[in-house]
Amino acid sequence: MPHPLVQTARELAPLFASRAAHWDSTRSYCWSNIEALADAGIMGMSIPKDLGGEGASFLDVAMVVEEIARVCTLTARVVVEANMGGISAVMAYGTPEQKAFCAPIVRAGDKPAICITEPEAGSAATQMQTTARKQGNSYVLNGRKHWITGGGVSKLHLIFAQVLDEAGTPQGIGGFIVHADSQSGDVPEGFAVVGREHTMGLCGMPEAELRFDNLVVDQKWLLTPPSGLKRGFADLMTAYNSQRVGAGTIALGVAAGALDHAIRYMGEREQFGRPIAEFQGLQWMVADMDTQIHAARHLLHAAAQSGDAFPDMTMAARAKLFASEAAIKVVNDALQMFGARGYSSREPLERMYRDVRMFTIGGGTAQILRTQVAGSVLGIRVPQTRDGYVVSDAESRH
Ligand code: FAD
Repeated sequence: MPHPLVQTARELAPLFASRAAHWDSTRSYCWSNIEALADAGIMGMSIPKDLGGEGASFLDVAMVVEEIARVCTLTARVVVEANMGGISAVMAYGTPEQKAFCAPIVRAGDKPAICITEPEAGSAATQMQTTARKQGNSYVLNGRKHWITGGGVSKLHLIFAQVLDEAGTPQGIGGFIVHADSQSGDVPEGFAVVGREHTMGLCGMPEAELRFDNLVVDQKWLLTPPSGLKRGFADLMTAYNSQRVGAGTIALGVAAGALDHAIRYMGEREQFGRPIAEFQGLQWMVADMDTQIHAARHLLHAAAQSGDAFPDMTMAARAKLFASEAAIKVVNDALQMFGARGYSSREPLERMYRDVRMFTIGGGTAQILRTQVAGSVLGIRVPQTRDGYVVSDAESRH
């Protein structure tokens, strides 16, 4: 039985569809859609009921995300980040104070930003250079992050940094919860949004560069995962598996939406005196598109329900990998079926094509996900640094 909010999402879809081109062409954030999402209870629907959420499962969220992604990729990304990734890490590992602080902000419409990537640390995320050095009861953060989704519009930030003790000795990677509202100017000293990428797709979503210059964060805002700081990055990335399922589901939704458009147009458009739907060359394309969409949905739903608190890493990697690559192909084929019209912004296909392209890059590239799946299937360690095997062998002996 689908969660009632799946039906709510279906009902909101026509409104979101009517606005999608506007956010894209003006590169503006979908504030009015977020108001509708918050009113409906979709923002933070995965937050437990005792903290004011709906207690919805990741599968429930995925089903809502697909409905919205069919019509507006931007709005679907907001829904993912308001329910999976950063906020779900806080709900799983946070202190009572951290949870009570973050939950109402998300329920009211905030999409937390997850801040991992740096100019010199992309796929090699553990090589991040941002540091958080202990000073009394606080940590002092210094560093740069880029490609931060929502930088400048998000209030909550989960900032990953190399944690150092007072003497400067590394303790592991930790996540810091930082509230900074650039829209109202309520930003702590030392926190700045210093740039925005001019992106190919998802143009309404800021992809920002953030800078931290002696940003002081009280130690109570350090999110400490169960295995402590030393192995904490692994736990934080386990939480990130939910976001991977979310990202894959957005790709699925865009593909399903593109197929809806293709089916409509195949019935409308005539060439050689017949609807183009009668040409077998296109029928077989539709069959392949539909099959890929169904396969992606099954993988994603299985991944959403796998694992304990969070989706299993391999299941999430498989699902995002398959869905993101399938979606790019499906949207491309749908655009092809429109002929020249697909290449024009009169139809939403060209926007969907630009939007969907990111999903094999952001949140773990297709290559990194393949490496994770291969390591799991082969049952071997797959460190990627030149000395990785030496280091991991040495670690396993201790
Ligand atoms: P690189 O790591 O430099 O990779 C370059 C190429 O080399 C890629 O093809 C990659 O697959 C390949 N490669 C690298 N290492 C290997 C390897 N070991 N084996 C095989 N191939 C390899 N980050 C955040 O922290 N927060 C966000 O909110 C966020 N949002 C994003 C939104 C968008 C739209 C995009 C595009 C990115 C976002 N990112 C975000 C960053 C994203 O996570 C990184 O782009 C991604 O991890 C890859 O890093 P990179 O771009 O530096 O590529």
